[in-house]
Amino acid sequence: MNEYDSDRIYDLTSTVGFNKTDIKKEADCFVLNTCHIREKATEKVYHEVGRVKKDFRNLKKPLVIVSGCVAQAESNEMIKREPYIDMVIGPQSYHKIGDLILDYERRKKKINETEFDVVGKFDLLEKIPNSQNKISAYLTIQEGCDKFCHFCVVPYTRGPEYSRPFDKIIKEAKNLVASGAKEIVLLGQNVNAYNYNKKYKLSSLIRELNDIKNLKRIRFTTSHPKDMTEDLINCYKDCEKLMPILHLPIQSGSNKILQLMNRKHNREYYISIIEKLKKIDKNIKISSDFIVGYPDETENDFQDTMKLINKVGFVNSYSFIFSPRPGTPAATKKLNNLSEVKLRLQKLQNTLDNLQHKNNKAYLQKNCEVLIENKLNNQEKYFGRTRYMTPVVLEADNCKPGDIVNVNITSCSQKSLFGICKTNKVKAA
Ligand code: SF4
Repeated sequence: MNEYDSDRIYDLTSTVGFNKTDIKKEADCFVLNTCHIREKATEKVYHEVGRVKKDFRNLKKPLVIVSGCVAQAESNEMIKREPYIDMVIGPQSYHKIGDLILDYERRKKKINETEFDVVGKFDLLEKIPNSQNKISAYLTIQEGCDKFCHFCVVPYTRGPEYSRPFDKIIKEAKNLVASGAKEIVLLGQNVNAYNYNKKYKLSSLIRELNDIKNLKRIRFTTSHPKDMTEDLINCYKDCEKLMPILHLPIQSGSNKILQLMNRKHNREYYISIIEKLKKIDKNIKISSDFIVGYPDETENDFQDTMKLINKVGFVNSYSFIFSPRPGTPAATKKLNNLSEVKLRLQKLQNTLDNLQHKNNKAYLQKNCEVLIENKLNNQEKYFGRTRYMTPVVLEADNCKPGDIVNVNITSCSQKSLFGICKTNKVKAA
């Protein structure tokens, strides 16, 4: 989501005369677009601002803007603590960045813009062409969250669920495809909660996108199990461009912990979704997110998570130790013993890594379909992804970014595949 936002922030700043530069010391303006999900996110921003300050010690001070969820959460505190910061802009206000810069240049007064103005944001963004010209393009369809998991800051930093108008999304998708995108990744903090005018759901968008000529692949992220409705599950049956992998965070395999997390689903319900998907296509793969050491997690609860991981056989998953986010209900709970939790995380990650490696080894000496995204710098090699999102580095003649090719996999690591493309393009979906 932040990558999409950063691209759009660039589109907006370019309307008031800014261009990107790779030469740091030449910059007149820094925009630090921040994410609050990871631990110590706030401190990392101050460190980054400190680096800019150091680099510009004997130079003209650049305009320093902090945008995104850390800006939203910290608000005026940031400007008070680090006067080198000129402006903080929340994730639902960044559409105003052009006007705010002009205002700052006129009045030289610090600016704190952290209103939740998501409707105004997308109204304005729709008028400014999305300049991404990526083979795999991000497209935000929904923002915010009403679920209030007890560990999560998103409902506080991104605000309530908002779904963009259906026709505006389709128009943006068609523009992205016209600019060269072959894959579209639909984005939302709760992407499958998308619901426009109680008429259009995520499944409606996928079906419409499936008919766009020259678009080859569709993905969406991140989903909540509660919103995996039948109409969405059926898209895996009917929409050949929808890729056969679903990122479906569960966070824990223990029903007790899921309830403490306020996840609004249990383990059995989660498994039932996977069973429905596997009935449609037994090769559909599932990736997930896990929090280890949530307050009150016992060894038994952890073992429930491990059993679930082995039962489902997850790929490409993420796992973290629980860390409190200020302002969330879980922030005041007693933490588990850190050394025990670290051991649990290690066990869990070993299992996930082994599953991933085993999954990759299954490709060895086989052909797989890869969408080439770009040529690697200074090399005669290309980077692409399989239908399951696995990164592939390949050698090939006669191909270019945007091609879908058959790659013979010759070796693999835990995270990536390596191969040679001998055949020509495969017939696209
Ligand atoms: S559903 Fe996702 S975004 Fe919403 S509160 Fe829970 S973890 Fe956060």
